[in-house]
Amino acid sequence: MPYRDAAENLITCPHCGQQVPHKNRCPNCGQYLPKREKKKWEMPKLTPTEIFLAILGLIMLTIGLVAV
Ligand SMILES: [Zn+2]
Repeated sequence: MPYRDAAENLITCPHCGQQVPHKNRCPNCGQYLPKREKKKWEMPKLTPTEIFLAILGLIMLTIGLVAV
């Protein structure tokens, strides 16, 4: 699918109405594009190792709090 990667980052330029790649400026009309809308809670993509370390850290913290 050659169009897949390109289509994912396309937005409609508010200045010229063209479907353009989401960059800092519209390549069609040269106007600055609005920043990408942020979701309320965008979870960072964690690797299983990072999730494990996070849980381990949480357990260690809990033990530390209980032990004292
Ligand atoms: Zn434009």
